[in-house]
Amino acid sequence: MDAERVREDFPILGQQVHGHPLVYLDNSATTQVPEQVLSTVAEHYRTSNANVHRGMHYLAHASTDALEHARETVARFVGAADSSCVVFTRGTTDGLNMVARGLAHVLGPDDAVVVSLMEHHSNYVPWQQACFAKGADFRVAGLTAEGDFDEAHYAELLADGKVKIVAMTGCSNVLGTVTPVKRLAKMAHDAGALFVLDGAQIMRHGVVDIADLGVDFLSFSGHKMMAGTGIGALCGTRDALEMLAPRDFGGEMVGKVTQALTTWEELPLRLEAGTPNYVGAIALGAACDYLCALGREEIAAYESELVNHAVGVLGKIEGLHIAGSPKERAGLVSFTIDDVHPLDLCTLVDARGVALRSGHNCAQPVLDWLGTSSVARLSPAFYNTSAEIDYAAQQIDRAAQMLR
Ligand code: PLP
Repeated sequence: MDAERVREDFPILGQQVHGHPLVYLDNSATTQVPEQVLSTVAEHYRTSNANVHRGMHYLAHASTDALEHARETVARFVGAADSSCVVFTRGTTDGLNMVARGLAHVLGPDDAVVVSLMEHHSNYVPWQQACFAKGADFRVAGLTAEGDFDEAHYAELLADGKVKIVAMTGCSNVLGTVTPVKRLAKMAHDAGALFVLDGAQIMRHGVVDIADLGVDFLSFSGHKMMAGTGIGALCGTRDALEMLAPRDFGGEMVGKVTQALTTWEELPLRLEAGTPNYVGAIALGAACDYLCALGREEIAAYESELVNHAVGVLGKIEGLHIAGSPKERAGLVSFTIDDVHPLDLCTLVDARGVALRSGHNCAQPVLDWLGTSSVARLSPAFYNTSAEIDYAAQQIDRAAQMLR
């Protein structure tokens, strides 16, 4: 990975903030958007913009074709059977809520749902609320002392045959733990449960292929994979997507509407009520192309190098505790420092140009498990360099000394 070359694709990275070169290390929250995606968006508005799946005029066809081309690109990117198995959403949260709501009809008082302790709130609360509404049992699989997924506990939770749905993250946005998705999905299926994968943090961690992983649903966000905000996709097997009751009603998702009855469109339109964010979807397709051109395995390998480097340099800072030591870590390092509040730390390093995240990172259950209410998080992407991580570590050390 030639990070210096790649950086040229990201104009935002070239700026100074507070008089210092920007060192952007908050990629788990959102990634920057390359020129290739920006120009695709601008070009669409300049040449092809019109509402999709409606008009019969030239631009309406051009816009619809571009949207459906993006859908095909996303389908290939995630290993979906075909483009009808790709539903465009507003992002991971939207897709997970769509599944939790759309599958509520399979849950009753004798059923259970399993999530993990390290879920982001967006893959925890929708399932908790679905269970509350249906009287189903909401089960939370624990972690080992190192912050790995506790497979023995998971097996116990599945053992009584009551679990209908397992909803699991591919990677914790706090611990960086990569979950063994393929194995967990097989265990879920053997127990008669559907498997829902929260892909928010893993889409840059190698090839994520739903057929190979054997998952029923995958929800992810464009803004965490260079596509910009307001777009994501819910992908799945045809059988699984067919099980979803539509959550939203309105234009384009219907077949016949009469006072007595409404019928639904085929997939995926049935699950895309109203005018979709078609330009966002086109940006997502362009981002998939961009990542494929760089090489998805190459991206994952380089980002792993950066993360390992970060673990090494941060580990040398006095009083710094890295959250978790999982067998496989992707994308991020969270930490606390004795007697230093993460918010103060991130404010001070920001003054030196370093962008980190602080807070509970929308994952309070795992923060409780860590025994804290806030962590600082450093999350590189393939356009970062080890020199930037060294600089960030120096600034973290300096800030910690000032704050103690
Ligand atoms: N799941 C995980 C693991 C995340 O890290 C995030 C965002 O940080 C989400 C879900 C929610 O993503 P979004 O806010 O894009 O819907």
